[in-house]
Amino acid sequence: MDYQLILNEIAEEIMSLQDKGKVANYIPALENVNPEQFGMSLTLFDGTQYNVGDFNTLFSIQSISKVFTFTLALKFYSTGLYKRIGREPSGNPFNSLVQLEYEHGVPRNPFINAGAINVTDTLMSYYGDSTTASKEIMQFIQDIAGEPSLTHNEIVSTSEMDHGFRNMALANLMKSFNNLDNDVHDVVQTYFRHCAIEMNTKMLSRAMLFLSNHGIDPISGVEYLSEQQAKRVNAVMLTCGHYDASGDFAFHVGLPGKSGVGGGIVAVVPKKMGICVWSPGLNAQGNSLAGTLALELFTSKTGMSIF
Ligand code: GLN
Repeated sequence: MDYQLILNEIAEEIMSLQDKGKVANYIPALENVNPEQFGMSLTLFDGTQYNVGDFNTLFSIQSISKVFTFTLALKFYSTGLYKRIGREPSGNPFNSLVQLEYEHGVPRNPFINAGAINVTDTLMSYYGDSTTASKEIMQFIQDIAGEPSLTHNEIVSTSEMDHGFRNMALANLMKSFNNLDNDVHDVVQTYFRHCAIEMNTKMLSRAMLFLSNHGIDPISGVEYLSEQQAKRVNAVMLTCGHYDASGDFAFHVGLPGKSGVGGGIVAVVPKKMGICVWSPGLNAQGNSLAGTLALELFTSKTGMSIF
């Protein structure tokens, strides 16, 4: 299959959509990102990459980081994790408080904000403190991506902390139900730090390979998760990776995927490749508008959905 040709066609076809979405402005440091950018990368198991557009531009990975923190927490706590976090789609916006109250402080899944904040809390408990947890999460993502130089953008995480009232509310609510072990402020700050890590589509498509290959990175041979755990992460990506648009994403794209409000989306083609697309303009559910369409075009053109 001529992947480069397919990527070129997709870039051409989504061009008119790049300014249709809205850049996330509830994080002021992200407000000034130029929406007219688009990049897409595929990484195959032998490391071959195909790229188009702004694939070298670093962007804020935001909620894509939740895939990595969930992976780590699953590694350390195994099924014990589900005592404090569910694995059902929420059908609600990513930062909603309502369901969390009804359900006694147990977040529906690890990809809505409450669930991801809870995952970060477990990692802080495991590593002992916020600084070590942040360092180890970063190290883990660097290993998975094969990119030792990754950093997080302090301006973005500070900006989010300054305006993080809703995430603080979610964390406080969980704390009130005894479902958060560490200091609320520290947990939320650690969470914002991993959301503010910057990567490009090349790095992220490569970082998805272990999930395409039953938990084992096909390039380095490192086993990050057991086959069964990798299946679980993919399942939760498919059912919860796009919040209240997860059904829609499965319907149109048909791949396990995870979005972030920085405009990135990662997707997994089992036994074949990792994919990442980036375009900062978001749709009403906070997922990249052009990015979602690009992935739909990809599975339509290649027939590579899981269905
Ligand atoms: N850091 C963002 C937040 O907590 C992540 C949300 C997202 O990417 N959907 O609001």
